[in-house]
Amino acid sequence: SLNDRLEGAFKNLKGHGRLSEVNIAQSVKEIRRALVAADVNYKIAKEFTDKVKDKALGQENVLNAVRPGEMMVKIVQDELTELMGGQAEGINLNGKPSTILVAGLQGSGKTTFSGKLAKFLKSKKKLSPLLIAGDVYRPAAINQLQVIGEQIKVPVFTIEDNKDPVEIALQGIAHAKANNFNVVIIDTAGRLAIDEAMMNEISNINEAVDPNEALFVVDAMTGQDAVNTAKAFNDVIDYDGVVLTKLDGDTRGGAALTVKYTVGKPIKFTSAGETMDTLDVFHPERMAQRILGMGDIVSFVEKAQEQYDEKEAQKLERKIKKNKFDFNDFLSQIAQLRKMGDLKGLMSMIPGMGKMTKDLDIDDSAFNKVEAIIFSMTKHERENPEVLNMSRKRRIAKGCGQNLHEINMFIKQFDQMKKMMHMMSKGKGMGNLQNMLG
Ligand code: GDP
Ligand code: MG
Repeated sequence: SLNDRLEGAFKNLKGHGRLSEVNIAQSVKEIRRALVAADVNYKIAKEFTDKVKDKALGQENVLNAVRPGEMMVKIVQDELTELMGGQAEGINLNGKPSTILVAGLQGSGKTTFSGKLAKFLKSKKKLSPLLIAGDVYRPAAINQLQVIGEQIKVPVFTIEDNKDPVEIALQGIAHAKANNFNVVIIDTAGRLAIDEAMMNEISNINEAVDPNEALFVVDAMTGQDAVNTAKAFNDVIDYDGVVLTKLDGDTRGGAALTVKYTVGKPIKFTSAGETMDTLDVFHPERMAQRILGMGDIVSFVEKAQEQYDEKEAQKLERKIKKNKFDFNDFLSQIAQLRKMGDLKGLMSMIPGMGKMTKDLDIDDSAFNKVEAIIFSMTKHERENPEVLNMSRKRRIAKGCGQNLHEINMFIKQFDQMKKMMHMMSKGKGMGNLQNMLG
């Protein structure tokens, strides 16, 4: 992946005390390969790394820097930020009502994004949005938007048995005007690939509505294809901004780097999840940091491994294999994790683990809660998790000042984790965190 490659490039630099022209050139080549492998067009990658190289060689203080690797990272980060558009850009909300048209291929995440944006505008901008269901071909599509609308308490405008998205959009806007909605979001139909019918349709809606803001939604996981689709839609509706979805998956990052460059349109939002609160205003600088932050995996993992006592690990592995992992072991695991510092940050830097860490909910307060529960258990209970019946759970709940539901949740998670670790230990010996990281 891009991150692995960048990691390699920077690792190279770290080995050297100082930068030389030779190892700058080497690193730059690695970075270029990494970008190309991440679906960035070769020409763009080359232009990008040439700039980085010029900057690195041009500044004498880089060649003589004490920490050349870090200076290189800074240069690459600045250039990445620039490539992705520099500043965060807002959307135009000056209409009465403001009209936002959402376009893109089927499955790119238009309907989900429409809901997220409605929620964002309602809660963050204190606007009163109306969703318009313009995907008239699949019966499930309207229903999907209605379910989302109910969830976020935003009304959805539809016209039963009407298959004309232009008419629906225009009537929806009229309805918004008459009923004091100050922003409408028009969800549209997409197809699996670019075809003339879809392009005609979106073009017709775009012309009829003349939206304040046309947004093109694209699945970040589709790589170089994303760029082609972005171009095709731009040719037809000349949109104002791009929404990059599914950044929670194992995306290769190439789309974020290339779209702005190729179509000259800014990325305005990123979406990273199926729930309604996973929308972010796009910040080029943060995205660059995220990409580069991953380059530090090696040093983080080394740090983690240093802190982890090898013998403890082996003892634990034996217990897990015998399915004897108990609450005491759990406590000592927490102590280990604490020693490592920011574990969530650490784990989220490992490609593919980002999503997992979100579910894990590991922060200090979570640790405190869990410890309080275990501290309220007797020695016997800690060593024999299976004895926890209802009356014991009630006593524990009282003891730690949490409610029964929380106790049950924790025990359920504990059981699942135990089961999973046991299963993994029988497989490839991936019984503990160290093996997971290493
Ligand atoms: P549409 O056909 O363009 O309207 O796409 P949908 O909004 O129906 O999304 C297609 C699928 O992708 C659905 O299963 C969504 O739940 C999922 N999806 C949308 N956005 C995201 C995202 O940011 N992350 C993840 N993981 N899934 C998403
Ligand atoms: Mg849809």
